[in-house]
Amino acid sequence: MEGKYWNPEIETMPLDKLRKLQEERLKLLVAHAYEKTGLYRRKFDQAGIKPQDINTLDDLKKLPLTTYLEDFCNTPIPEKLAVPMEEVKVFYTTSGTLSGFTQPIMWTRKDFDEIIGQGEIRLRLALGMRADDVVQALAGDYCCFKGCELMGAGFLTVMAGRGNLDYQIRLAKVTGVTVLQYLPSLMLRYFERAKELGIDIRETKLRLVAIFGESFAESYRRRLESEYGVAIRTMYSCAEVPFIAHECLEGKGMHIFGDWCIVEVIDPDTGEILGPGEEGEIVATPLVNEAMPLIRYRVGDVASILPYEPCPCGRTHPKISLVKGRVAHIIKVDGKKIMPIDVEEVVANTLGLADDYQIIVTKPGEQQRLNVKAEYKPEIKDVNALKNQFEAALSQNLAVESEAELVPLGTLGRPLFKAQRIIATY
Ligand SMILES: [Zn+2]
Repeated sequence: MEGKYWNPEIETMPLDKLRKLQEERLKLLVAHAYEKTGLYRRKFDQAGIKPQDINTLDDLKKLPLTTYLEDFCNTPIPEKLAVPMEEVKVFYTTSGTLSGFTQPIMWTRKDFDEIIGQGEIRLRLALGMRADDVVQALAGDYCCFKGCELMGAGFLTVMAGRGNLDYQIRLAKVTGVTVLQYLPSLMLRYFERAKELGIDIRETKLRLVAIFGESFAESYRRRLESEYGVAIRTMYSCAEVPFIAHECLEGKGMHIFGDWCIVEVIDPDTGEILGPGEEGEIVATPLVNEAMPLIRYRVGDVASILPYEPCPCGRTHPKISLVKGRVAHIIKVDGKKIMPIDVEEVVANTLGLADDYQIIVTKPGEQQRLNVKAEYKPEIKDVNALKNQFEAALSQNLAVESEAELVPLGTLGRPLFKAQRIIATY
């Protein structure tokens, strides 16, 4: 399969038609959720809303927000499931970090084939993958391969390399892997380890890395793209909403999967809807879930809707910015809101520092000063001068008082899954 789009009619449809499609799907979703789930019947009744009150996209804001802990986790499965259990054919889960137990995500056969299958290939073509690619998905699931299958691309199975990073890197070289799919912090580790094994990534066939699951500083992206001769592109989803947005080859913001999902951005403290360019919490309404409908779901990630402009790739669906991080990871320092990625930009731009860093939070609530631990590269002779330079750069870029502690490369440990950037010491 070769081609720029998987579904050109949908992906390049005029914006007014897309809005009409969203409106039709929203009305169906609202009726389905109200009629078939105890969760939404209760929420709508409490808010005094009936499905017939929702007729246009502007009416969406009348509907209550859905939260992860109170609504999603605390609602028993029969009350959030809109189909009989025997129609659920595919089970997935959330990570369970916030709720203490992994929450099942359920799909009917139709949900899985029409959304996951189609979404995977749409996403992959938009990121620039082709039929002659060989894909190594080191984090991901069975569904990751659906897109590869449909596209006709090759892929290494989940067990290829048996979870051993050295084997996986060597396998990638000998099998001619062209696309790597991984978390950004683990991609850094992959590149670092390849170097240690004497493998020059530039001399392998790797040309594209599809990243997801963590925010990633632009400075790192640019540096790694030139250092390793690869393109790095982002795909964005969460377990509950499998397709929210993706970058295209242009790499400037992420197109929303507009036919499947409505994205709003709200102030996380007040719930007020924010306009284009204003940073806040992402709220997603997946439009075509049959088994487990979700309406105005608070995803917990920070981003903004980008002011609309046509994209040279030809896709018409609006864009959001790259995700800056989690709402839960906003740190207040001396009246300012700071996110790990803000610190990451400074780390990436300070020559002499390695990639890993930690923000040390010494007490609950607001901090007086920003405390950062970072690693220096082995060739650094004057660590104190580097520390002063780093502290000055932090204070200048983030406009808060900063204190840094520099430790030798490798001291902070390496992430096994997602990198832990905030360390509480109280
Ligand atoms: Zn585009």
